[in-house]
Amino acid sequence: MSRKPIIAGNWKMNKTAKESREFIEKVKSAIPANDLVDSVVGAPAIFLEAITEAVQDTDLQVAAQNCFWEDEGAFTGENSPKTLSALGVDYVIIGHSERRQYFHETDEEVNKKAHAIFRNGMKPIICCGETLETYEAGKAKEFVGQQVSAALKELTEGQVQSLVIAYEPIWAIGTGKSATKDDAQTMCQAIRQVIAENYNKEVADQVRIQYGGSVKPENIAEYLACPDVDGALVGGASLQADSFLSLLEAVK
Ligand code: PGA
Repeated sequence: MSRKPIIAGNWKMNKTAKESREFIEKVKSAIPANDLVDSVVGAPAIFLEAITEAVQDTDLQVAAQNCFWEDEGAFTGENSPKTLSALGVDYVIIGHSERRQYFHETDEEVNKKAHAIFRNGMKPIICCGETLETYEAGKAKEFVGQQVSAALKELTEGQVQSLVIAYEPIWAIGTGKSATKDDAQTMCQAIRQVIAENYNKEVADQVRIQYGGSVKPENIAEYLACPDVDGALVGGASLQADSFLSLLEAVK
């Protein structure tokens, strides 16, 4: 089964408009060919209009870091999936552990957002991952399996095949403490198994599953070599253009 790797940078709440423009200018024509890897930049909503315009004739793809589950209405401060789609945004990251922790995003909301993203012609990057306590209690597979099942509720086979899951153990995010490649492989395989149980093996074999958590140019190759790891979601090491390009170049 060959799945095209997908490497996504998650800028989180970083960069000014000028820094964002400079990054995109540097990166957009230097990324590897699109048949090798899907290269994605996940930027704050405020930059998405400028970025989608700047990358129009390139293979660089664009992700929002969140969206609401309704298309429009009285939801002050939220970003509409319909609006993101009209800008030309390709992916929306949902269920990131920072959003779950600081903004109390629930599994049910992640599922509603996933439906809204598909309804508007984009694809979700659905994040999941356990705390250190859950990991140490040996309950990571069970916990993450439940997160994934809840996020996928009532999505069609076709939708599930085309989405991306990012397995990000919370204890490895921004801590410099990355999961071992064996941990990443075990968990990504377990997630694929859950999808096979909820859907079927053909669907599970298509889904791309990223590892995330302190991925850097120095360690990305180890993860990409794992049979069930199809790419990475990268925070800190995606912020500098050179570092982001090195991550992409690790795909052989
Ligand atoms: P990190 O963040 O690469 O800085 O650990 C990953 C993420 O939160 O997506």
